[in-house]
Amino acid sequence: MTNSFTNASAKDAGAAWLGGEFAGKLVVGNWKMNGLATDAKALVQALVAQGAGDKPLAHQGQAQGQGDVQVAICPPFTLLNPVREWLGAAPLWLGAQDCHAQDGGAFTGNISAAMLRDAGCQLCILGHSERRQAGESSSQIAEKLAAALRHQLIPILCIGETLAERQAGQTLAVLAEQLASSLPLPLAGSGGSSATAAPIVVAYEPVWAIGTGLSATLDQIAEVHQFLRQQTAALGHVPLLYGGSVKASNAAEIMALGDVDGVLVGGASLNAEEFWQIAVAASTVLAGRSVSTAAA
Ligand code: PEP
Repeated sequence: MTNSFTNASAKDAGAAWLGGEFAGKLVVGNWKMNGLATDAKALVQALVAQGAGDKPLAHQGQAQGQGDVQVAICPPFTLLNPVREWLGAAPLWLGAQDCHAQDGGAFTGNISAAMLRDAGCQLCILGHSERRQAGESSSQIAEKLAAALRHQLIPILCIGETLAERQAGQTLAVLAEQLASSLPLPLAGSGGSSATAAPIVVAYEPVWAIGTGLSATLDQIAEVHQFLRQQTAALGHVPLLYGGSVKASNAAEIMALGDVDGVLVGGASLNAEEFWQIAVAASTVLAGRSVSTAAA
C-alpha cells in the first residue's frame, strides 16, 4: 500500500522519527474504553482506506520522515492484536492507554510494557487525567514511564490542570509539578543533562477540556506550550501535544501554534472521517497552507 503518511518502516523507527529537531506532527487517537470487534474493525478499515487514497498528507519539503504527519491509534488492550492485524502494512502506529511498571509477575489484571511491545505497540499513553482521577499518582506514572522506555515504547505523558486550579492561577505550577514528579529524567533548571535523549512525548490536556466540547483557547494553549518547551528543554526537542476537545474544525489552528507538535484526540478519534480530517489539518499546517480550511 502506498500513501503519504510516514513510511511504514518508521513503525520500527519511532524514536528516530521523534528525535532530533522534530518537525512533523503527531496525531494520536485515544479510544478510551470504547470499541467492540465489529465497529472497531470498520473504523480501522475506514482509516486504512483513507490513507490509501491519493490525498497528499506528507509535507514534501522536509527530509524523509522528519516533516511528516504520523497518525497513531490507541485502542483498548483487548483490541490491540486485532487492530494490528487490520492495520496490516498501513503506516499508522499502534499505542496502548496504560501499562504496568513491572515487566511481569503476580499482578493480576495488569499489562506490562513488554507485553505491549510484544503486541506491536510503538506508543503508550501514561498519566491520563482519567487515570489520575482514579487515584494514579505521579510516582506511579514515573515508574510506568521508565518501564515504557525500557521496552522501546514511546511514552505520551499526559499532564493538565483542573478548572479549579486554573481559576486559582495555579496552572503553570501544577504542570511543572506534574512534569517534575512524573518524568524520571532531568528537566530544565534541575542541573541535569540531556544525555538521555529518551523519546518522550508530553501531552497538555487541561482536565476541564477533556470530553467537554470546550477546548482551551489558542492563547491558553500557546502560553502553556511555551512554558512546557522551556521546562523540557534539557531533554532536547520533546514533542508537545495538545488534547482536549480537538476536532476537525479546530485542529488546524491549534496545530499552527509554534510549540504544538500534534494533538491527542479522544472522542473525535472514534469517527474515521473526523479523525482523518484532523490528520489532514496537520498536513495542511505543515505545508504552510491556510490554517482556517479544516471542515467545520
Ligand atoms: C483524551 O481523552 O485524551 C481527550 C483529549 O478527549 P477528548 O478529545 O474527547 O476531549
